[in-house]
Amino acid sequence: MPIRLHDSLTRQVKELRRPDPADPKDRLTFYNCGPTVYGPAHIGNFRTFVINDVLRRLLVLEHGADKVRYVRNLTDVDDKTIKLSRDERRPLAEVTKQWTDKFHADCAALNCLPMDPGLEPTATGYIKEQVDMIDVLMKKGNAYRAADGSVYFKVSSFDDYGKLSRVKERELQVGSALKTHAADADEKEDVSDFALWKAHKPDDGPNGWESPWGRGRPGWHIECSAMSKALLGDTIDLHTGGEDLEFPHHENEIAQSECCNGVLFSRHWFHSKHLLVDGKKMSKSLGNLYTLDDLVAKGFSPMAVRYALLMGHPRKQLNFTLDSLHAAESALRRLEYQIKRFLVDAGFTDKEWMQFVQATHGIDWMHEEFAQPILALRDDLNTPGALGSLFSSLGSIATGGPTQSLKIDRLKRTGALLYVLGIQIFPEESKVTAPAAITALAEKRWAAKQTRDWAGADALRKELTAAGWSMLDGKDGYKLEPLKK
Ligand SMILES: [Zn+2]
Repeated sequence: MPIRLHDSLTRQVKELRRPDPADPKDRLTFYNCGPTVYGPAHIGNFRTFVINDVLRRLLVLEHGADKVRYVRNLTDVDDKTIKLSRDERRPLAEVTKQWTDKFHADCAALNCLPMDPGLEPTATGYIKEQVDMIDVLMKKGNAYRAADGSVYFKVSSFDDYGKLSRVKERELQVGSALKTHAADADEKEDVSDFALWKAHKPDDGPNGWESPWGRGRPGWHIECSAMSKALLGDTIDLHTGGEDLEFPHHENEIAQSECCNGVLFSRHWFHSKHLLVDGKKMSKSLGNLYTLDDLVAKGFSPMAVRYALLMGHPRKQLNFTLDSLHAAESALRRLEYQIKRFLVDAGFTDKEWMQFVQATHGIDWMHEEFAQPILALRDDLNTPGALGSLFSSLGSIATGGPTQSLKIDRLKRTGALLYVLGIQIFPEESKVTAPAAITALAEKRWAAKQTRDWAGADALRKELTAAGWSMLDGKDGYKLEPLKK
């Protein structure tokens, strides 16, 4: 069964394909809108990133790592990042680096795959590509320069505007979705037009770039269109993000890219739904806007957070509660117990188990008990379905006393399935195996200590703690241990 996934554009669950598997150069191109790096990402952001991590793992398992080209960007210039740099009187690149590092540490703690071999471009690294795209849009008559030097996209120049979010229909039904999202300047010809290039203002400080329209900086939407074009080409296979990005961000990306390139922008659009906390929308004023650090401080492991985020269907709102985290912790303990029992029963060491988890290729999924969980994932990324049938599959191994080769086969499939879900089960002996990103942080901290950079070493220790690891320093080296709850 092929991978089927909901497509927001057609509002249908449809097959997610590579364009031409017969062509050896064929790749599945996958763009996921990344974070704006001006503070810690919250648990709602991480729902999207964890879901996209499972999707990426599933695609890698299906096609092989070299056949999936994955890009997730970083937005490192916008009103929020510039305001932070101004408030803290630190250069923009320094504040965005700090929050990029934090984002990476959180992703590693949640066991998201490292970006490599995927790519993680930054908006400031692709200014020329953005200017080039705006230039084409100006020449084609899809954009205009306003009196203040800003450049706007002329929404009325693109007949298909609104095809993803059906915003024009919504406009008719409920009034002014278009207008409320676009109230950022008096200079525009029409309120629904949006900025491609923002003219430099005194508040922007040193943050500006030269362009044919004067000094300024790119608008948010053009960043993704330009990075996607530069790294994945004019038409991509899959574009994803949280549902809050559907309008206006993704709608505007489609308008810019399709007008500039003259071809379809993305063949498939996948949006994950919002997360509620205790039944309510997250907000600072309600005090329910959790970061990963907040939850670790309450005694939960990052792995339980990941598990809890996968307990809901990606296309349904997920009500995230502390109770759901307790349930996730106990599910993880049950998994750990069952796997440990099979390992002992089949005569395997923990090290051998770790090899099973990493051996994800050449597995006949359609064989026996493990077809169900993987079928659930292939069917519109049904993560709760996969978790549920994982337990019944494990239960069926326990009974019946299969032969040794069948046991190995089943353990391999369990390992590979946990790999796709990104759930790490460490039997006792392997518990000190830290993920690569954690080891990298520890190495950096060790190096900082050697050069007596105590502040740097301290900051890195905090990152390790936030990621759920403690670093025990010895005379000649260090040891990493997961934090006890
Ligand atoms: Zn984007």
